[in-house]
Amino acid sequence: MKAVIVGSISPSIHQDIRTITFKEGEQGDIYLIGETEDILSVLLKLRGDPKTTLNPVFLLENENIDEYIQDLIDGPWQDEKSLKKAEKILTRIRSLPALSEHLAESEKRLVTFFRFLWSREREEVKAYPDSDSRVGYTYPLLRACLKLKAGDEIDYIEQLLSQGLIREKKLVNRIPVCPNDHTYQIIFRETCPNCGSLKLQETDLYYHFDCGYVGPKEEFTEEDILRCPKCQRRLRHLGEDYEIPNNVFLCRDCQHITEEPKIEIFCLHCKKTYGIESLVFYEIKDYLISALGIETAQEGRLPLRGIEEIFDKLNLIKWNVFKFIFDWEKNRFKRYKQPFSLLLISWDNEKIEEIFEEYGTSKIKQYFEGVIVFLKQNLRTTDIGCRYNLGTFLFLLPNTPEENAKIVQSRLLKDISKIETDIPIPPLKIEIYSCPGEAEKLTIEEIITAEYD
Ligand SMILES: [Zn+2]
Ligand SMILES: [Zn+2]
Ligand SMILES: [Zn+2]
Repeated sequence: MKAVIVGSISPSIHQDIRTITFKEGEQGDIYLIGETEDILSVLLKLRGDPKTTLNPVFLLENENIDEYIQDLIDGPWQDEKSLKKAEKILTRIRSLPALSEHLAESEKRLVTFFRFLWSREREEVKAYPDSDSRVGYTYPLLRACLKLKAGDEIDYIEQLLSQGLIREKKLVNRIPVCPNDHTYQIIFRETCPNCGSLKLQETDLYYHFDCGYVGPKEEFTEEDILRCPKCQRRLRHLGEDYEIPNNVFLCRDCQHITEEPKIEIFCLHCKKTYGIESLVFYEIKDYLISALGIETAQEGRLPLRGIEEIFDKLNLIKWNVFKFIFDWEKNRFKRYKQPFSLLLISWDNEKIEEIFEEYGTSKIKQYFEGVIVFLKQNLRTTDIGCRYNLGTFLFLLPNTPEENAKIVQSRLLKDISKIETDIPIPPLKIEIYSCPGEAEKLTIEEIITAEYD
């Protein structure tokens, strides 16, 4: 095993390891980091370079390793134990097929990130506080693999989540962010509700019993004594001559008195000012790699399953529930002659997979995003949708006889045919099964299998 040493080393290294000192372009099996000025930048460099992203990295210094740093390494160096660990990781990595050639540079980095997790049998994608990040947190490993500034990987988190590659583990924090640029560098300040001035002074409000004058303490003070500015009488005893009903804010610019100053938000980043009501919260979460994420690592390509997630925008229900509702509607039809229809949308998913290999995900997604828009336009909120499998979606249209369902069908077909795309997407099939009609004699499974023949 060849180890590349970064920084100065003190302990002796295992005899099976051949060590060389770090040089630009020098490749090793593992990397050992000794005393160095900036460990983080060394790690970011190693993880950010596709040639070394997956290599085991150990720290020779092993006391008080920051959690953030731990996210990027394989642990402190423990000779025999670490050597075994490194061998295991390297074996796993070497068993993987090459990355798909159809991936863009950033997609390759994403898949490599999943390979990193998989090769370490790591499940968690954890957020760590980082004041350099625009939302105050960062995912160190993801950020390093993508070679981004801290916080810029947040956009990818959303993408991974929508593709089903990661799933939520727990909410870590809710960060108030600027509604304009979503950065956490905002300040809350109290201003005069009358003139907007920041020159607010917290003071007591005095109330003179005799003449009924009310005003801030400052108006009553004259050298060391208290005198009412309206009737000029002296105030001697609190509770007898005067009362302090509450605490107020006095604007030193316009003299306006208020009990509740206006809270506004000022963004230090975009320098815009907002009312408190427009404040936005960003939720920082820890995630877990999903089964699909593991598949991504093993196969070396991003899944097309992203399409499924697009359809989730339709509030789909689970298959078993859908089946139950279908049977229930059918019984209702038998008893009360209440008509209903089933709309079945399907496509040749194998063809889509082929297109995906050739054209990548974005164009396919774009097309299906269009399909979703038309589905939303043509279906009612009472219509119930379900995914049978990838390539087969069902919608139940209650109180809809066949002739009405056919109108929806032809409108949908017409709308979908208008979606412009320069990839050879196989045509979507839209079928109708109704009661009264064909659905009377068929179970839902038979309808779906009929569709496949
Ligand atoms: Zn004012
Ligand atoms: Zn008075
Ligand atoms: Zn801003």
